[in-house]
Amino acid sequence: VVFDTLSDRLSGIFSKLRSKGRLTEADVDATAREIRLALLEADVALPVVKAFIARLKERARGAEVSQALNPAQQVIKIVHEELVATLGGEARRLQFAKNPPTVIMLAGLQGSGKTTLAGKLARWLKGQGHQPLLVAADLQRPNAVNQLQVLGGRAGVEVYAPEPGNGVGNPVQVARESIEHARRQMRDIVIVDTAGRLGIDAEMMQQAADIRDAVDPDEVLFVIDAMVGQDAVTTAEAFRDGVGITGVVLSKLDGDARGGAALSVRHVTGQPIMFASTGEKLEDFDVFHPDRMASRILGMGDVLTLIEQAEQAFADDEKERMAAKLMGGQEFTLEDFLEQLQAVRRMGPIANVLAMMPGMNQMKDQLAEIDDKHFDRVTAIIRSMTPKERSNPKILNASRRMRIANGSGVSVTDVNQLLTRFADAQKMMKQMGGMMGLPGGRRKAT
Ligand code: GDP
Repeated sequence: VVFDTLSDRLSGIFSKLRSKGRLTEADVDATAREIRLALLEADVALPVVKAFIARLKERARGAEVSQALNPAQQVIKIVHEELVATLGGEARRLQFAKNPPTVIMLAGLQGSGKTTLAGKLARWLKGQGHQPLLVAADLQRPNAVNQLQVLGGRAGVEVYAPEPGNGVGNPVQVARESIEHARRQMRDIVIVDTAGRLGIDAEMMQQAADIRDAVDPDEVLFVIDAMVGQDAVTTAEAFRDGVGITGVVLSKLDGDARGGAALSVRHVTGQPIMFASTGEKLEDFDVFHPDRMASRILGMGDVLTLIEQAEQAFADDEKERMAAKLMGGQEFTLEDFLEQLQAVRRMGPIANVLAMMPGMNQMKDQLAEIDDKHFDRVTAIIRSMTPKERSNPKILNASRRMRIANGSGVSVTDVNQLLTRFADAQKMMKQMGGMMGLPGGRRKAT
């Protein structure tokens, strides 16, 4: 998916630093040069790259060099923080109007994923207890109204559209009337889908501006296709100047893009990335979290997303205990592992879930070959252990291992393999705690 190449490049750069005892001036320069190239290759806009590298150099040379972290960790930490900043820092929430309805207008080029996004946003807001109304003000593209009606139907959200047979209709008028309709129907949010063109043109921009004036939006979200790379920056500037935007939505993040648009658009527009669209289905949509995206780029896995997804699968008490454990840097036991496995099995195909875990980025090929049955076997093995064995696998001597193998219908080798891999996972959890600056992992600089 998106950012893969950048991830690979960065992890290569960091691994060279791993053997170094301390960072010299020359190391900083060489590393900065390589990261600069990696960003340019990812199609990040030049001004963004320049600003990024300048801050990186300054910070890597500066006084914040810490005793607790080794050079690779120091650089990773700085790059992580700078990536978060480049992606916009804190996630911003939607601004709701004091007097409903809140009006959200969508703008962007044709094909950027606007209409799809309208459906996703409506579904998401409905899930949060809102009563959204979708408005079809894209009367340019023949099928847009119909597409929105289909999406609205799927999301269970009403769609306001011009009566069929009345000719093309006037999108500005439709938009204006939709607000009155929303008031009458007690809808608290109106999502206005507008027309796009394949390229920027004055007429489209004027229409978008007219719709904006007619509906007085609380948010104008600019939808940008992450696959188009740096070109998107020009489009973003045009919309910023022509319509005025308050936020950005990245679409098609599931695609095989280099990520340049995602890393450039905040800097170029000055507006935050608020949502991310990651597929064609209505549920492929989420709030955009700069910190999580940065962690994902650095191959630290997306532990927070994982925890959140797990939340839906975990029972309440389980989930709190697990989150506290992971965040508190406590020892991760086989009991936890079993609980996670079971929760994870409820979350869908294992390969997708694992892809979000730390270090898994480098294992894409192996992930593709994962057989879910294997996990059921692992579950059986852990289930054959006593609670005492699960919390302290060190007591698992040869005869206990034999008993477990027999009990779960596998070979002793399978049991041994699981225990070895579990020990690795435990180590990884500890390191991760260290990387994230959590207690428990900080003592040792590995
Ligand atoms: P619009 O012209 O801006 O309204 O764009 P559409 O919403 O019609 O989307 C254009 C195409 O992109 C459609 O085929 C969508 O199914 C597809 N699409 C939209 N969002 C995503 C996404 O996040 N991921 C992928 N893979 N496809 C998407």
